[in-house]
Amino acid sequence: MAEPLLGGMAQTAADRSEPILRCGNTNCGGCGMSIVHQFLGRAAGDRPVQLVIPTCCAIVAAGPFPWSSYGAPVVATTFASGASVATALAWAAKLNGEKTRVICFAGDGGTFDIGMATVSGAAERNEDILYLCYDNEIYGNTGGQRSSATPRGAATTTTPTGNELAKKDIVGIMAAHRIPYVATVSLAHPDDALRKMRDALDMEGFRFLHVLSPCPTGWKSEPGDGVELIRLAVKSGLYPIYEVFGGRRFVINVEPEMTPGALENYHAKQGRFRKAGIDLSRVREAIADEWDYLRARAAQGAARNA
Ligand code: SF4
Repeated sequence: MAEPLLGGMAQTAADRSEPILRCGNTNCGGCGMSIVHQFLGRAAGDRPVQLVIPTCCAIVAAGPFPWSSYGAPVVATTFASGASVATALAWAAKLNGEKTRVICFAGDGGTFDIGMATVSGAAERNEDILYLCYDNEIYGNTGGQRSSATPRGAATTTTPTGNELAKKDIVGIMAAHRIPYVATVSLAHPDDALRKMRDALDMEGFRFLHVLSPCPTGWKSEPGDGVELIRLAVKSGLYPIYEVFGGRRFVINVEPEMTPGALENYHAKQGRFRKAGIDLSRVREAIADEWDYLRARAAQGAARNA
């Protein structure tokens, strides 16, 4: 009998009887990516999963070979090849008749920048992958350099006086591939986050989740403030929570309260913005523009379905 192709690697929650990312990992205290892993483990439940992690803090978190902080099988890849390796594993699982859900778990550097070619290729081919980008808005594992996910005004090691460029619209780019599912995920809204992760795990084709992930080290924030920062980002409208089906149907999941002071607090709690002295009126304009666009797209989708 032929050996299964790259098979037998997936594990279920029952197999691992532990979270996806275990205690004793090397993440900084208060790292948002640790919370993303906890959510993902809960969402996965007893589904068999296989992680593919391109270069980023999440692969550093595994610790030195042959040990691993992961309670699930992981393939480490270069920055640029995560989506390609995930493609191969997804096809191997399919050819072997396995129900493995292949998850590419990547940072913003490996998604917005260096991995964009393979991410776009896998999306265009609609490969059967869940691609989760935890976005800490810098190259965290190499010391905090600017990426194209870094917001305007944030100080990084390569933009010490503040980044002058706008953050890349990765959700819009992925939606433009007309893949089955794209969504933003808030760590401050667990019900919505878990529902989206479960839905994305169960769908077929290329699914993309974007999670804004607090990084106390790079954001120069208090480790205990991470979830509160995300709550402020959502309340202020800075981080819109929505999903896009088939690149066409936009659904807004959380209405921003536009709470007075939320935007100010979000920025005041992070040293990366204090250094450069950010112009919040410009940020407000960008938020208003983005919400005009999202509301128009959501209305179009609703009208089409009426
Ligand atoms: S540098 Fe940031 S993203 Fe990386 S482990 Fe530390 S807190 Fe997490």
